[in-house]
Amino acid sequence: MKFLFCLFDGLRRDFVRADTMPNLNSFQNDWVDYPNSSSTFPSETRVQVASFVTGAYCGGSIPHSLGQPEFGHGIMANSFYDPLLGFDGPLDTSDIVKMEQAKAIYGKLQKSPSLAEILWEVEKNYSVITTGKIGNARLLNLNADKLDQKLFSIWGAGISSSTADYDGIIKKFGPVPKQRFPNNAVSQYATTVLLEHFLLDGSADVQVIWYNEPDLSFHYEGIGSPSSLSSLKCLDQCFEKILKWWETSGRLEGWHIITCSDHAQISKIKQVNVMDELKIAGFKAGLAINDDINVAVKASYSGQITVRERDPELILKVIRFLHDQYWCGLTFTRDGGNGTISMAEINALNDRSPDINYILRSTEGVNRYGYPGLCFADNPDIPDGGGIHGGLNNIEINNFMAVGGDQINRNKTFNVPTGIVDIMPTILHGLGVKIPATSMGRPLKEAFLGGGVEPTWYEKKLRESSTNYIQEMLVSHVTGVEFPYLRGGSRIV
Ligand SMILES: [Zn+2]
Repeated sequence: MKFLFCLFDGLRRDFVRADTMPNLNSFQNDWVDYPNSSSTFPSETRVQVASFVTGAYCGGSIPHSLGQPEFGHGIMANSFYDPLLGFDGPLDTSDIVKMEQAKAIYGKLQKSPSLAEILWEVEKNYSVITTGKIGNARLLNLNADKLDQKLFSIWGAGISSSTADYDGIIKKFGPVPKQRFPNNAVSQYATTVLLEHFLLDGSADVQVIWYNEPDLSFHYEGIGSPSSLSSLKCLDQCFEKILKWWETSGRLEGWHIITCSDHAQISKIKQVNVMDELKIAGFKAGLAINDDINVAVKASYSGQITVRERDPELILKVIRFLHDQYWCGLTFTRDGGNGTISMAEINALNDRSPDINYILRSTEGVNRYGYPGLCFADNPDIPDGGGIHGGLNNIEINNFMAVGGDQINRNKTFNVPTGIVDIMPTILHGLGVKIPATSMGRPLKEAFLGGGVEPTWYEKKLRESSTNYIQEMLVSHVTGVEFPYLRGGSRIV
């Protein structure tokens, strides 16, 4: 058995329809569909990449400092601030130099073993094509060169692994087209490299193709905009080509297909500058803790705050300030309390966690194209009306997921909550490889022929309140899985 993992970054489930993506929609209907799949928190791309390759959330329920076994891959956000690193601001996981410095301090950037490492140990081959950012390419396989595995990134030979032979590909297919919105030429290029190069030599057991669309078009042109619809049409045509290969030769060679998105998106209605708001309120806020700053802010729609020496009184002051603001949505702290939810409840607690995770407020209203999900955001690069993700709104964390192949059931929909963390154990289950104890998800056995029925589950509503502030978060507990699946939440009052 082999797996092609085909990822459409940022794709919302409600766009996989007969009129927008007919080929992907047919695949979803013909095989196994998981409508209740969720991203991990925060629902930013590089956290999902790390969750895909490790089968883990960013954290678990116990910090390592308590001497207990620790869960979580430790990539806390696309950019995250950790005072331990001694940097003058957040660590950007696309900054190669900073990532190397962080590796030297942490020992391991990604705490849990990755799919690449696990497959290498059993002499199976893992191969990647990605049009995502540099950090996306790196996190899909941090050790591609060391393990002599193929990693092709559109960002050049320096980001690709040597065995992927970037220069040879450019020679064969021409230069990578310039990125634009919609990024159709790049999506088509990657599909050609997949079908006319990577899949031809038959060396991979698991092949990843990661498209950075419709994420880009949603972000900068809007969810449902003509540009995003063009991107979806192009991606569906790319998928049609993949299906043609699959029907002609792929299935005969044992290939199974997992199609996914890493998260969805909702629409930004207004910019809020949380750093400025904190400063106006009198907090000594900045990018890193130093002589003049005692509140470090990683600003974003899904933001993080770390205070000097984790001072409980200062944390409480910041929490009270946040809860007083109309733009503040969900709030989480390491221990919970004072109206916040514990990070442990959403699998986000470990040594690298900030003191506070906050998400700007979201609603179920619709954008100008009629698509639900609106929010405030602290991302100046995203225009008002553009798409955003990173939080826990139930629309934005509901990722697309469908599985097909000769060992997979036909025409089935499983409503059991599932998520990005289940992909790695499912691939290992299919390949007959032992699933590591660090995996926090489960193999989706019921998707396979003779794999039995889906497990039972129950939902749990978390509700916390303080003065003039009430928030609710829904999680699901699936029988046989220790860690809850995230179902979404919002500020109620
Ligand atoms: Zn993404």
